[in-house]
Amino acid sequence: MDILLEVIETISLKILKIKGETMAVMTAPENTPVWVDTARCKACDICVDACPAGVLSMKPDAGSTLGANIEIVALEACIGCNECELSCPDFAIYVAEKKEYKFAKLTDSSKARQEAIMNNGYRLPEDYKEAN
Ligand code: SF4
Ligand code: SF4
Repeated sequence: MDILLEVIETISLKILKIKGETMAVMTAPENTPVWVDTARCKACDICVDACPAGVLSMKPDAGSTLGANIEIVALEACIGCNECELSCPDFAIYVAEKKEYKFAKLTDSSKARQEAIMNNGYRLPEDYKEAN
């Protein structure tokens, strides 16, 4: 049991260390609900899939591992659910604290944008028109 606790503690410290190093590099921008460190993004699409509000999309990036990188396409639509930050395996995406930012509500137009992104291979269609 002691060994198990020690292992858990070590893993937790490593995770905290990774998070600490990330936060040391990325300074939280003011008045912004969500931001990304594109240098850490491996283009796995997971956060785009997890976002219910169509805030995130992949964009072509010839220099990245999988030829794509994360992009914020609807900053003002972020509802602060934290799904992206929690699901990113590379600690490349960050969400503001609820006490520091007034997030949007989930709207039909946000849901429609998310559906369009999902139907277009995790990318916002170039000719996408916002629903009213
Ligand atoms: S916090 Fe939620 S709504 Fe905002 S970008 Fe992340 S997943 Fe999308
Ligand atoms: S989950 Fe992380 S690594 Fe994957 S696409 Fe999103 S930001 Fe990039």
